[in-house]
Amino acid sequence: MVDTGGGLNLILLGPPGAGKGTQAKRLEAYYGIAQISTGDMLRAEVAAGSPIGRKAKAIMEAGELVPDDVIITMLAGRIARPDCARGFILDGFPRTVPQAEALDAMLAEQGLTLSAVIELRVDDAALVERIAGRFTCASCGAGYHDVFQPPRVAGRCDVCGGGEFTRRADDNRETVAARLAAYHRQTAPILPYYAAQGRLHRVDGMAGIDEVTAAVERILAGLSRPLAKN
Ligand code: ADP
Ligand code: ADP
Ligand code: ZN
Repeated sequence: MVDTGGGLNLILLGPPGAGKGTQAKRLEAYYGIAQISTGDMLRAEVAAGSPIGRKAKAIMEAGELVPDDVIITMLAGRIARPDCARGFILDGFPRTVPQAEALDAMLAEQGLTLSAVIELRVDDAALVERIAGRFTCASCGAGYHDVFQPPRVAGRCDVCGGGEFTRRADDNRETVAARLAAYHRQTAPILPYYAAQGRLHRVDGMAGIDEVTAAVERILAGLSRPLAKN
């Protein structure tokens, strides 16, 4: 793990299935910074049957976005936790311009800045294939794909050896169309927001998983406070 010198705060942006979670988990391991996935947080609330979960469940199953106020409150508590002291990688947040503005205000209040916003660009047709084949280890959360990233031994998680896997309720071809529409209509407008701040970097997310990681690391190496991996 490398010393990030007081905080590497990243956003991974991109449509559903672009590879945000896959790359965020690698960055978490390489740099010791926390992966924060608002989708994972919401799925945990749904599983727990909490008030937030009860509000979010039907919205998520329809492929629409959960209201900004719910998400912003949830995230504010999360980035204040001690595991974010070295930095964090936001995966799936912000998804609207009001969320991006709220994040800037939260960071300013805590004296933090964004290091970079990295957009993973992937064609819609490829996204549908990625989402249709996605599954996750039920014990440790490691991500897989039927075709693009199968476990080394069929039926056994590479990371923890677990034999149970889950698929998301919203990872079906019908809901994907709604999720892509929400991305293009509500999330894509935050790209010019970050471009105007001079923080936006683009990566070809159509490349293989390792190539995408290498491209992200080149961006991180080029930041004003360069990083070296172990
Ligand atoms: P993906 O990995 O496919 O991009 P996520 O796991 O990030 O999907 O999100 C799953 C669902 O959770 C979204 O379709 C949306 O309903 C809800 N969600 C997650 N993050 C947000 C957010 N920042 N704002 C609003 N809704 C969100
Ligand atoms: P997101 O978090 O952006 O929704 P994921 O990281 O969950 O996306 O990736 C979606 C699916 O595509 C997963 O099954 C993952 O194994 C696979 N995947 C991720 N990156 C790539 C890539 N560069 N090429 C092919 N498949 C990929
Ligand atoms: Zn596992």
